[in-house]
Amino acid sequence: MVVPYTHEPFTDFSDEKNRKVMEEAINQVEKELGQEYPLIIGGERVTTEDKIVSYNPANKEEVVGVVSKANQELAEKAMKIADETFQWWRKSKPEMRADILFRAAAIVRRRKFEFTAWLVKEGGKPWKEADADTAEAIDFLEYYGRQMLRLKDGAPINSRPIEFNRYNYIPLGVGVVISPWNFLFAIMAGTTVSAMVTGNTVLLKPASATPVIAYKLMEVLEEAGMPAGVVNYVPGSGSEVGDYLVDHPRTRFISFTGSRDVGTRIFERAAKVNEGQIWLKRVVAEMGGKDTIVVDKESDLELAAQSITYSAFGFSGQKCSACSRVVAHEDVYDELVARVKELTEENVNVADPADANTYMGPVIDQGAFDKIMNYIEIGKSEGKLVTGGEGDDSKGYFVKPTVFADLDQNARIMQEEIFGPVVGFTKAKNFDEAIEIANNTDYGLTGAVITNNREHIEKAREDFHVGNLYFNRGCTAAIVGYHPFGGFNMSGTDSKAGGPDYLLNFMQGKTTSEML
Ligand code: NAP
Repeated sequence: MVVPYTHEPFTDFSDEKNRKVMEEAINQVEKELGQEYPLIIGGERVTTEDKIVSYNPANKEEVVGVVSKANQELAEKAMKIADETFQWWRKSKPEMRADILFRAAAIVRRRKFEFTAWLVKEGGKPWKEADADTAEAIDFLEYYGRQMLRLKDGAPINSRPIEFNRYNYIPLGVGVVISPWNFLFAIMAGTTVSAMVTGNTVLLKPASATPVIAYKLMEVLEEAGMPAGVVNYVPGSGSEVGDYLVDHPRTRFISFTGSRDVGTRIFERAAKVNEGQIWLKRVVAEMGGKDTIVVDKESDLELAAQSITYSAFGFSGQKCSACSRVVAHEDVYDELVARVKELTEENVNVADPADANTYMGPVIDQGAFDKIMNYIEIGKSEGKLVTGGEGDDSKGYFVKPTVFADLDQNARIMQEEIFGPVVGFTKAKNFDEAIEIANNTDYGLTGAVITNNREHIEKAREDFHVGNLYFNRGCTAAIVGYHPFGGFNMSGTDSKAGGPDYLLNFMQGKTTSEML
């Protein structure tokens, strides 16, 4: 029996002892920067001429690692091995597969500060955010291991007296896992191990901005006893290797997390039945968000301001769940905007995330920096700049936390995913209108309502159309096993990562009926 799941606690960095260990971990990781990492195909290390260079977004001169880059030929080789491995892996004992996850969780837990330090360097995450990312990776390992044990014997069904019926879940086949850079450890690990623990084999294509941490996960899984060929590490360009694997007739499913543009492209391409393909591919596509916090007239305004500030600027707003819109009742609007401005200016410093006192680090790369700065210019023409509005990409990609007020609900700042530290405010006359405005986007990922009015809570529960709705708190920081995560509409397929139904995305039900 395994002990019941509880989430991994966060590290208290106000404790001097923890601060010291973290500083040592960063120093250690700094000594290991710039190393070369090969592909891993069928357990074999494969080095290529062509490379992906992973940079520290806080310091463009600092190379985190140099990673071999798969091309179509190597992707084909990996597909062949994953396909062959599936033939026996699909029959492996679920308990054994779960044990690999439990051991991997223990390995990461023992090396927790080290992993967190890699996330500071490769993802540009401040300590607190990096620690939460590591904790979430551990949670996924622990939670999905237990979920597999729960599902391993299938589900009860009826049998008539003349027959014995069973209903079991069997794996699908080879899955292509395509992960984003923002939760470079947690989402990459969670999407990989959920596909693998259910008996599938995997081709893992991590984001090109953050391939080193994915290599580190491979090492952990190998140490935990994962056989060769079960997960194959094939970093490469999204458009070259990504498209090739999505189109491949032997790909049985795709587990994608990333932007709406790429997600919809994958969804379309995967729908085409290619020559030699004998199934319809399954697609899990978790995409972007334009997440709103609604602030009611009867509410704790200090709680509202704190929740908005953290949800908008934690990890520089680069969370799919980040608060990028605020809809406030007109009676509290001015006071709220003023308090968010104050909190932002007093608390949200922008600096190198390797420093313990940094609230907000850089954004991920030049492309992100340029896109965000462009949106800031758009915001200046659409609304009133309350604070921020500046950026500096001379050393790393730093953008000041930026607040716009008095926006029309249909302004671009209020409709398009910026994926940076920018939040826009608009006013509502009453609560009904606030919910209407909150729903007025193409997305439906997270949302929050700050109110002390019970009727309004119940109304929002029914009418605020998002996959993750929170009351009297911010709209980020979902915890595995506590807040199953996934969105509606253009936020994706609502697969609910970290929830009780998630593993079923990677399995199919098989009914057997034996006459007695
Ligand atoms: P992205 O640009 O869509 O990239 C995601 C992954 O897709 C990367 O591995 C990328 O590879 C790959 N890719 C790019 N083009 C591809 C193609 N043609 N075929 C197959 N794969 C391709 O997204 P991102 O910038 O990494 O992440 C930010 C986005 O993710 C935001 O929109 C955010 O809201 C969303 N997100 C959603 C969730 C959620 O749970 N809903 C969670 C986290 C993030 P390359 O890096 O090589 O281009």
